Amino acid sequence: MSIYQQLGVEPIINACGTVTRLGGAPMPAEVLDAFAQAAAESVPLEHLQAAASRRIVDVTGTEAGLVTCGAAGALTLGAAAILTGHNLARIEKLPCCEGFPNEFIIAREQRSGYDHSVRAAGATLVEVGFNEIVSNAGVRRTEVWEYEAAITPHTAGIVYVHANDSCPQLQDVVALAHAHGLPVLVDAAGELPPRSNLKDIPATGADLVCFSGGKAIRGPQATGILCGRRRLVSAAAMQMLDMDDHLELWDPPEELIDRSQFKGIPRHGFGRSLKVSKEEVVALLTALDLFASGVYDRQLTEYRRLLDKVADSLSGAKASCRMLEPLTPDRWPVLEIFIDAAALGKSAMDVCRALRGGSPPVYVGHAGLSEGRLQINPICLHDAAVSGLIKRLLEEMS
Ligand SMILES: *Cc1c(COP(=O)(O)O)cnc(C)c1O
Repeated sequence: MSIYQQLGVEPIINACGTVTRLGGAPMPAEVLDAFAQAAAESVPLEHLQAAASRRIVDVTGTEAGLVTCGAAGALTLGAAAILTGHNLARIEKLPCCEGFPNEFIIAREQRSGYDHSVRAAGATLVEVGFNEIVSNAGVRRTEVWEYEAAITPHTAGIVYVHANDSCPQLQDVVALAHAHGLPVLVDAAGELPPRSNLKDIPATGADLVCFSGGKAIRGPQATGILCGRRRLVSAAAMQMLDMDDHLELWDPPEELIDRSQFKGIPRHGFGRSLKVSKEEVVALLTALDLFASGVYDRQLTEYRRLLDKVADSLSGAKASCRMLEPLTPDRWPVLEIFIDAAALGKSAMDVCRALRGGSPPVYVGHAGLSEGRLQINPICLHDAAVSGLIKRLLEEMS
């Protein structure tokens, strides 16, 4: 009986990918081993985070880095760092921002549920641009001048959500922000692979960049990375780390926390509720090394073989398949299954629901249901799971 079954929870076949709702990415054996080794000894967390910073600097080309509680935690800490800097009074006050600038400008089309992560620190969002293309009312997307027109003395920074086709380009937003002395906080949580993005996104000059550790990096699900300017990463670290020490004894690693910036030792900061364990830090760093070195590429042929097997098995079903090819060579393809609703007598939504409700439950990608598409992402699959997946697909689609 699996450890989940002992708890009365049925393990699923995950054809949906590294999504948070379904438990994130599968951790490689090296990562699990690193987690177990890290649990066997104690270390001061600020020294461990300084070591993490050195590794993150190597792979991102930034000045400093911090292992955070998910990319969402990185966004919250990044916003907190921008709001307070090293100002002890402000650090103590968060998330109340009375008396200092707390507005972050964001393109309306980049807003999502992850806004909470930025607002949680005390920021308020000021929207610019429209969503004219979606509302079928125009042809243009957000433009740089719109950010500039929204800057006031209350502006603390700009939030930017990175995607392949984000508009305007990040480097143009960074140039505008820097011309006004403002920092840019980038949500790049799901932008890996390509692994080149580890360096390319910070290379735009963005002040802070957030990556998820529990998606394609395959670290612990609740880890993330905040990297960028040393001064800001330092302010973020100060607000996350436990501060229960005497000023006379406090000796933080200089490369991560610039003690000279502080007139006293702050108490636990706003980010204390976003703590990360030593095991998670070590496991994430191990996964980051694997990801950045390209070791995961060796699995790409296997992923394609698994998807081909699914597609071949559906040749007689009331559906057609298409392989969605990856945009970069270090990404994997995704198989799209188009349901012939008229022939089958049920919609893609019906099939998706039935798959979830079966035994074992099967979860497929659900982003294209309204267009009659199921998606099969191979990253959490293996041969046994694929056999179960094929059996259930055939039962629902023949
Ligand atoms: C996944 C995701 C996040 C949150 O990342 P976690 O590591 O799960 O906290 C934030 N923003 C975007 C765009 C994401 O896709």
